[in-house]
Amino acid sequence: MKERIIIATRNAHKVEEIQAILSDYEVCDLSSVDDPPEVEETGVTFVENATLKAVAISKLTDALVLSDDSGLEVDALNGEPGVYSSRYAGEDGNDELNNAKLLRELKGMDDRLARFRCVIVIARGGEGLANFSGAVEGRILEARRGEGGFGYDPLFAPLGYDESFAELGEKIKNGMSHRARALEGVVTWFSSVS
Ligand code: IMP
Repeated sequence: MKERIIIATRNAHKVEEIQAILSDYEVCDLSSVDDPPEVEETGVTFVENATLKAVAISKLTDALVLSDDSGLEVDALNGEPGVYSSRYAGEDGNDELNNAKLLRELKGMDDRLARFRCVIVIARGGEGLANFSGAVEGRILEARRGEGGFGYDPLFAPLGYDESFAELGEKIKNGMSHRARALEGVVTWFSSVS
């Protein structure tokens, strides 16, 4: 029987990417948990925030819970926005405002090197069991390009490509992304414990 895994996120794009990559597993979103709480991301690292989310949700179900905390690190901005990627333009911000702020901060700068980083934590019964990380190197473009993906995808071109993640599309992104790389560790872990 397929292992059932609940993804502890309200970000539908993350759920979609994780489901596509973990296609051999029964992956469910938060709708399979009664009254899931809004977990505040009070940590200052990806591991801390991913652990907060996975552990909180795993107290409400018998299933394995997987959480993803991820973000963009820009070298010329000393690693910002990092764990604050979703809130870069403020608590009431959104992807559009975050991208606009990133372009403003990098205006006139030649060093555009950046990476997406992802930490995935697996928890069960209120306890963190394992964590995995993945990263993808690239650069920040001068302007948004493409319609696919989410977040900073229109501004991020992975190393070796001129196109942004938003232009490259789901299949290519899921073959190399920070999330896909962290999920490789998850798949190996699943096969070692099942
Ligand atoms: P989290 O929900 O606190 O982990 O925030 C993740 C934020 O990082 C998202 O809202 C995006 O701004 C950014 N991010 C993470 N992964 C990706 C990705 O795959 N593409 C584009 N942006 C991403």
